[in-house]
Amino acid sequence: MVELKDYASPVRPTWCPGCGNFGIWNALKKALAESGLAPHQVMLVSGIGCGSKLPDYTTANGFLTLHGRTLAVATGVRLANHGLKVICTHGDGDGYGEGGNHFVSAVRRNIGIVDIVQNNRVYGLTKGQYSPTSPQGFVTRTSPEGAIEQMLHPLAVALAAGGTFLSRGWSGDIEHLVWLMKEALQHRGYALVNVLQPCVSFNRMYSYDWLRPRVYKVQDEPGYDPSDRAAAFVKAQEWGERIPIGILYRTEDVPAYEEKVPALEAGPLVKQPLRTKTAQEYELLKQEYV
Ligand code: SF4
Repeated sequence: MVELKDYASPVRPTWCPGCGNFGIWNALKKALAESGLAPHQVMLVSGIGCGSKLPDYTTANGFLTLHGRTLAVATGVRLANHGLKVICTHGDGDGYGEGGNHFVSAVRRNIGIVDIVQNNRVYGLTKGQYSPTSPQGFVTRTSPEGAIEQMLHPLAVALAAGGTFLSRGWSGDIEHLVWLMKEALQHRGYALVNVLQPCVSFNRMYSYDWLRPRVYKVQDEPGYDPSDRAAAFVKAQEWGERIPIGILYRTEDVPAYEEKVPALEAGPLVKQPLRTKTAQEYELLKQEYV
């Protein structure tokens, strides 16, 4: 039986006191333990940013890669060994900014990855520049007159790209976040868990007090059906006085990418015997150089 203490690492987080990353970290460890996943069965992949430090603070396998390349590396991991539960933990800058292309590609492929985006709507590690999810007019050191661009609605982008599991949680409700992560861990394809989290040092306007009265659970809305794509598209863009959290859209009818790759039918690549090239393949390789 897997227990929460199995994920306890002696490495202590360096996050600022009160950072929303603490809630996400605790929720993820609990979700993994309650899902019966042992640390050796899990690979956490992250990029660069405050949230991307999370794999350091657990005992699961971890891979910290370049800024924005989290999903690209996680895709490689999943294709090499789809017996592993592959989870990305990275911020909105890494996930939706530098990694924007990889985000859309991962959604389109429906690769079996749980993508936890720690969305504090600012670049915290580099001391407070505006990010793709910052609101228009957001004043930072690099946007003293306010951000000019419109903010990105990541769930709406993912839905337009064919997303099959689109959810939002927030770091002030751990119980709900644990439930959300456990549901995402059971999804057969790409599962987005976009987590709203305060950055208490560089995004003071987006605080616990600002978020708490605004978030509401879609599952409590009378008649809300998470399999209704059109309704989900409306909810994915709702922002302001009311912010929906929960599973906004889900379908299990679409096969995961790895289910469609012929080379993976015999099981994870790492468990398949090494294959040497056939004489015909050697001939083809030689032709490339003539
Ligand atoms: Fe958290 Fe912001 Fe501090 Fe980074 S800078 S650890 S996101 S509070």
